[in-house]
Amino acid sequence: MPELPEVETTLRGVEPWITGKKITDVVIRQRSLRWPVPPEISDSLVGQKISSARRRGKYLLFLLSGGGTLLVHLGMSGSLRIVNRGEDDWRKHDHIGVGLSSGKELRFHDPRRFGCWLYCPAGDVPEECHELLKKLGPEPLSDDFDETYLWKSTRNRKVAIKQFIMNANVVVGVGNIYACEALFLAGISPRKAAGRVTRKKLDLLVRSIKEVLGEAIQMGGTTLRDFLNAEGEAGYFKQELRVYDREGQPCRECGSEIKRIVQSNRSTFYCPKCQK
Ligand SMILES: [Zn+2]
Repeated sequence: MPELPEVETTLRGVEPWITGKKITDVVIRQRSLRWPVPPEISDSLVGQKISSARRRGKYLLFLLSGGGTLLVHLGMSGSLRIVNRGEDDWRKHDHIGVGLSSGKELRFHDPRRFGCWLYCPAGDVPEECHELLKKLGPEPLSDDFDETYLWKSTRNRKVAIKQFIMNANVVVGVGNIYACEALFLAGISPRKAAGRVTRKKLDLLVRSIKEVLGEAIQMGGTTLRDFLNAEGEAGYFKQELRVYDREGQPCRECGSEIKRIVQSNRSTFYCPKCQK
């Protein structure tokens, strides 16, 4: 599933190709994504320039010259790639193509169809436009996500710290892999009640979350040059992982066996000796 680093990588990959370009036409071959692609989206987009692009959580926001915003979510298996108009064939599971004045096309591919394409009209604030964007917590790499914020929000919370940091209303983009890795780096047991983690440890946790996500984005960055090739999958990469998916293997710090438990139906990997 595309996590925050893949979405950020996608943004950085497509941004230079689309910014300042006019949308000449929109081809929709499959409307039934997570929510139906609104039929009026083509009329809304055609003729507008893409003025800028940014990311909020795992949403890509394409700001248009007319003041509206195109919201794209990659869902479970979505990806965006840039193709040459008329030269690149539609592959199976390519659902949407946005033609650009440069002769390039932004193509959306999504085998499982959990992604979404929505249009937020001019005058509306994109964050207010869509239910899922409204309650999102701060961006993990921004200054708003700091030790004071995490300290205040965890007080009196009995939920396990791992589930707490994976809640997008607390902080966006800390997926399962990154939660496991960051808790290991910070030396915090994933089962510990959020409200019982010390301020010092929370400070470490904030830094660790920024570190693992930052690392992942940097590694994703190395795939950007491939954006135009036939493979075209946007920035998926394998990071060197410390605990995730390493059950039974020795901890890279202390040599103890990495354990796996299940929390909220998700596998948690941790080192019982390094994480208290
Ligand atoms: Zn260890």
